[in-house]
Amino acid sequence: MTDKSSQTLAWQAMSRDHHLAPFSDVKQLAEKGPRIITSAKGVYLWDSEGNKILDGMAGLWCVAVGYGRDELAEVASKQMKELPYYNLFFQTAHPPALELAKAIADVAPQGMNHVFFTGSGSEGNDTVLRMVRHYWALKGKPHKQTIIGRINGYHGSTVAGASLGGMSGMHEQGGLPIPGIVHIAQPYWFGEGGDMSPDEFGVWAAEQLEKKILEVGEDNVAAFIAEPIQGAGGVIIPPDSYWPKVKEILAKYDILFVADEVICGFGRTGEWFGTDYYGLKPDLMTIAKGLTSGYIPMGGVIVRDSVAKVISEGGDFNHGFTYSGHPVAAAVGLENLRILREEKVIEQVHEKTAPYLQQRLRELADHPLVGEVRGLGMLGAIELVQDKATRARYQGKGVGMICRQHCFDNGLIMRAVGDTMIIAPPLVISLEEIDELVEKARKCLDLTYQALQ
Ligand code: PMP
Repeated sequence: MTDKSSQTLAWQAMSRDHHLAPFSDVKQLAEKGPRIITSAKGVYLWDSEGNKILDGMAGLWCVAVGYGRDELAEVASKQMKELPYYNLFFQTAHPPALELAKAIADVAPQGMNHVFFTGSGSEGNDTVLRMVRHYWALKGKPHKQTIIGRINGYHGSTVAGASLGGMSGMHEQGGLPIPGIVHIAQPYWFGEGGDMSPDEFGVWAAEQLEKKILEVGEDNVAAFIAEPIQGAGGVIIPPDSYWPKVKEILAKYDILFVADEVICGFGRTGEWFGTDYYGLKPDLMTIAKGLTSGYIPMGGVIVRDSVAKVISEGGDFNHGFTYSGHPVAAAVGLENLRILREEKVIEQVHEKTAPYLQQRLRELADHPLVGEVRGLGMLGAIELVQDKATRARYQGKGVGMICRQHCFDNGLIMRAVGDTMIIAPPLVISLEEIDELVEKARKCLDLTYQALQ
């Protein structure tokens, strides 16, 4: 280990003395100091010590088109000079927001032609909560207020977002969830399927939705919210039986279905949206991340025409953010969608790079530490276990964090969710870069296994 540069030490001191980092043990971080990321290009990051790192997480699942796309910087600069800010409140608008709303409608599922813009995915889900309740009130059913989410789902970090999500560590802080939100089991077969087959478990997990609707009463349920594939929960890909059964249940009851597409949206599954992949029919879809490839903050909600009609005929919807549809963000979003479409990025993922990534990732299943490898599109998960047959974990060892550290030290960013290692690389990752990712992952699994012996 070489000594850190004085510049790195200076930045780490600023972190310790002034910065409260999100989702971090701030005291621990102060002792160790954050790794300082200073530049990026394509799928690679560089830190302040000059180390090159393959970003297996596309930032936080967002940098779809890869780092360093000059076109995105240029449209932002142009828009800043022309109209850096104006709002969409009180009967004004501006071209970038309108053109982006149209461009999103062009790629969204049929019948979903309306967009409400926000600054983030969390704000998108806050918007969802207010919009679905307002919708039912306008329909003359004000009792339909309860929203059903899932345990270990992630819908953001605002009060509504964290309440809709089912992360126990978040609920413990700040008195969440807020009233009117209930949770059902997640379709996580590897962790919770017990002796059931994946398909039996998928049906069981779907049936929990119907059970909850009946328990709360159909007349009291506004909506069900779910990620097509849970991301932050650990890239949880439901058994094949899950979504068809949920679809059947949704068709039986008069409730809205909200697909949180913040991770799955804009190509991650090899389709434009996760609901396209699974053939679902959402009423609202939350979007963010891939919308701008993370170059600038932006989120939103895509709304089905039938819902938008009720909202738009209901007078003022008293909701909005200063940065709803921010012109610079919208210009970047438009250019990002142009790149995705014209460079056929999603087609490449679908036809070429995702099948290759999935095939290569599966090779890791023979590793003694690996209990399961699963994945879909540009998403992957590697379950670390002590006993492959029983799926038993190493107890109290923090295996995921050990592995994550080896990755960090060996030029690869993989995230650990408990003892599940997850990846979500930029959509533009090449076949050679996939080889590098998988080879580095194997090396880090070896190092982790050795550390445990
Ligand atoms: N929904 C999902 C599915 C997410 O993964 C995230 C962020 N990881 C959010 C919502 C929240 O988005 P943001 O962090 O932009 O508020």
